[in-house]
Amino acid sequence: MTRHLKVNIVTPNGVVYEHHAHMVVAKTLDGDLGILPRHAPIIAPLAIDEVRIKRIDSDDHVDWIAINGGVIEVRDDVVTIIADSAERERDIDVSRAERAKNRAEELIREAKSHADVDELRRATVALHRAINRINVSKQKKKKKQKQFERAVFAFFLENGLQEKARELLIRFIQFLRTLTYEFL
Ligand code: ATP
Repeated sequence: MTRHLKVNIVTPNGVVYEHHAHMVVAKTLDGDLGILPRHAPIIAPLAIDEVRIKRIDSDDHVDWIAINGGVIEVRDDVVTIIADSAERERDIDVSRAERAKNRAEELIREAKSHADVDELRRATVALHRAINRINVSKQKKKKKQKQFERAVFAFFLENGLQEKARELLIRFIQFLRTLTYEFL
């Protein structure tokens, strides 16, 4: 029988994520950690970074979660992340994150001018959290972009244009990429 991982993400606000997965990739303070079923038991502190979860329902179903520090535990195919805060890509308020980023950058400037080490450290962490959220939120755009490209590619193939139209298709996709990044 195929073994899966069960992934739980818990924050002080409660359970934010609970799904089965083929694979989890997280960033610990010691570097990237890739977890497959039968992984050895481990507990590790997590960096402020994204966690990628490859779901079992389809090959290209990947969830991206912004994890803002915490701990990961792997045991008996159960991956538990206890995070200070965590947001799925679809729940991220990008304009809030942009505002947080601007605030943090301003605080960093002030802290540097006053040589305030504690404030500099706090503002740097806040900046990392904001940038992490912004990066994770962009995954949604990239996912839509790929789906769109696949649909265009399928259209060309179905219409027997594969070889001659290959170069044209690549140029077309590059053009669409610039357009859809503007509007998605
Ligand atoms: P802000 O300054 O915008 O509050 P923060 O980094 O100080 O950002 P946290 O203290 O890490 O915020 O989180 C407080 C709560 O708000 C948590 O529940 C977190 O999940 C949520 N949160 C923070 N920023 C965002 C965001 N951009 N989109 C969605 N939820 C967010």
